Parts: sequence; structure tokens; C-alpha cells
Amino acid sequence: MAVLRNYKICDNAKECGGIAVCPTGALSWNEEKETIEIDNDKCISCGACESHCPIGALKVAYTEEEYKKINEEIENDPRTTKDLFVDRYGATPLSEFFIITEEELEKKLGESITLIEAYEEDTIECLIKSIPIKEITSNMPKDTKYFKMEASSLTKEKYNINILPSLLIFNNKKFKGKIEGYYNTDQKQELLDQINNIL
Ligand code: SF4
Repeated sequence: MAVLRNYKICDNAKECGGIAVCPTGALSWNEEKETIEIDNDKCISCGACESHCPIGALKVAYTEEEYKKINEEIENDPRTTKDLFVDRYGATPLSEFFIITEEELEKKLGESITLIEAYEEDTIECLIKSIPIKEITSNMPKDTKYFKMEASSLTKEKYNINILPSLLIFNNKKFKGKIEGYYNTDQKQELLDQINNIL
């Protein structure tokens, strides 16, 4: 019937996974306007684009009612692309700014709190559901530092890490403790309480 694009969270890129799989050309890239275009007359509601959008910005409506409902959901969605694509605890890093190597770890530790997220390759699902770093550090001292570090077996052994991602917590250059495993947005308070207990 029709496909809808959540323009609030879609990064509107030529490389759109939906465009790549759409068999009818209902989804296309307009080079001149630099935007994704939808021609719903061509849409056969096959659903291919929906499953190829990693952030869930493409939704296929099969009935008029569904179309209205999805449209309303998009209009009421409080999220923006920024909310989805900031670096997040539990997700593969997006911004190189946060990435350090294991060799750099000691040098990066600050006088105040330093959080090191030891990670390994993960799914993009984490980018949508994991906790933005700014929310984890919002009540911490201004000079709190945060980095992401891909963990080899050496780091896992050194800090006795069994599950990744794992948040290594340092204060004044001293290792205070760690929190293992992935936390989603619903578990934010739990994660913050654990960090406070360690500090
Ligand atoms: S539902 Fe199928 S035909 Fe419609 S836009 Fe998506 S991929 Fe193209």
C-alpha cells in the first residue's frame, strides 16, 4: 500500500538500505534535491525496505488505518537523528574521538572519574536501545573522561572481564571496579546506581 519514512530519525543518505532492496523503484535517491524520495504508486508493500533499515525509519503500511497510525507515530516521535547517533554505552563506536587503544589506557586516565567502555563488535540494535554517554555522565564532575577501547584477551584477563561491553571505572587513576554487560535505556537508573556504588 505505502511506505512511510520517519524523517526525524532517518539520516537521509544515498546509501539507504531501503533504496538498495526496493524491487519497484518506489524508494529512490533524488540527486538534485539530495533526498530520499518515495513514490507510493509504485510501492507493492513487500516489506523489503522495512527490514533493511537498521534504525527502523522505514515503515510499511498495509491499510489506510495503519498508514494514519504510523504517520501519527512519526509526528509524535520525540527522537532526532542526534539521539540515535551519539556515542552510546553498549554500542560499537561511531565517533573516533572516543576511541583509544589498550596501550593508551594508562595515559588517558584523569585525576577525576574516567569511564572506559571495553567493547567488541556489536550489532546496530545497540545504537538504538543503548544509553547515550551524555546521560551517563551528566551528573558527574565536569572533568570526567569517557573512552571506548576494543578489548583483547589481555584486557579481559587483566580486569577479569567475562562479558562485553564492560564499563571499567577509574577514579584518580585508580581502578575502582567494573560493570559487565549491555544496558538499554530502560536500565539507565540501574546502571547509574551501580556506577555510584563503585565510586
Ligand atoms: S515496501 Fe517494497 S516496494 Fe514498497 S518501498 Fe519498500 S521495498 Fe519498495
